[in-house]
Amino acid sequence: MDQSGDAVRVKAIRKLLLRWFRKSGRSFPWRLHRDPYAILIAEKLLQQTAARPGVVDAYSELLARYPSIKSLARADIRTLNRIVRPLGLGYRAKELRQIARTLVSLFGGAVPSEISELMLLPGVGEYAARAVSCFAFGQHVAIVDINVARFLYRVFDISEPFPANPARKRSLIEMATNLLPKGHAREFNLAILDLCAAVCRPTRPHCEICIIRKYCGYGSRQTTKTAGRSLPGSPSIPNGLILPSAA
Ligand code: SF4
Repeated sequence: MDQSGDAVRVKAIRKLLLRWFRKSGRSFPWRLHRDPYAILIAEKLLQQTAARPGVVDAYSELLARYPSIKSLARADIRTLNRIVRPLGLGYRAKELRQIARTLVSLFGGAVPSEISELMLLPGVGEYAARAVSCFAFGQHVAIVDINVARFLYRVFDISEPFPANPARKRSLIEMATNLLPKGHAREFNLAILDLCAAVCRPTRPHCEICIIRKYCGYGSRQTTKTAGRSLPGSPSIPNGLILPSAA
């Protein structure tokens, strides 16, 4: 596709995804407000838990019991453990308290907005830092996890091997950033996450019902009959892998 064709495609993808998200986006309690502390807690709970139902319960109880960073910094570890244990990751209680303590000692008890500062927090990697920066502070920041990376590989027919750590792959972050519509970064990031969860699935993407199929490299090659059965032409995409994308 030439440059003007690419621009038309990007414009169409932005428009269609935003429209779809406004109608079909998922609802989670952490999406209802922009409190940086609450959003950081949500991102930590969502890591490696694939948005299990227990995440909503743990999130609600955590914020009710520890409504501020300072209260979490003083948390009793057994109580914290009891709250997060159903998510199956025992180390997370200590990590959450350590995050709160680091916020108190390094940032005066506030959540910073810069990605580099957020990544100073224990257990906060590039994906979570970018998510907090965008969702809580409205920064024009793209987020890339394995699902978003798979989406980009499919849409733009990327042929190079799939990276071991997509969240830190500069070329993917740059591509995702170029796709972001100005003034709508939050909505657009969420739209991709939700499309990946509902339609652009890891093993069987539902191209036959996908709103951007016409503009997607992989989807446009599928017939209704074959859509979702295989990924010819994209052998490097790890179809069976899935990580949480419910930010
Ligand atoms: S058309 Fe298929 S491969 Fe492309 S974004 Fe939609 S579901 Fe994913």
